[in-house]
Amino acid sequence: MGFLEDAVGKTKEVFDIACKKTDEILTLEKQKFTLASLKSKREKDFAALGRIYFELVKDDEDADEDVLNLVDEICDKSQEIELLEAEIRYAKYQRACHECGSSVDANSAFCNKCGAKLD
Ligand SMILES: [Zn+2]
Repeated sequence: MGFLEDAVGKTKEVFDIACKKTDEILTLEKQKFTLASLKSKREKDFAALGRIYFELVKDDEDADEDVLNLVDEICDKSQEIELLEAEIRYAKYQRACHECGSSVDANSAFCNKCGAKLD
């Protein structure tokens, strides 16, 4: 085999190895992506199952104590969420008085606290 053929052969060999490595890396990355995607979908399924179970046991006083504790936790958080949502909704219709800084209705003509005329 001549020098040129030899060099071409070696180059092709190196190229093939590099391609194989690239394919392996791509396959691994695809597997990692599929794994993360499956885990995320499984978490959503667990959450969906949890919601169904929550509705089934929330009024069942004979349910397992750990389950009832979780039901209480969920109910407490739901109340907090409702309160915060209401506060945020309310805050959208409030503004600060330019004189005293207190919170006033967005459509009030005067400040409730200091009486300043609002524009
Ligand atoms: Zn004021």
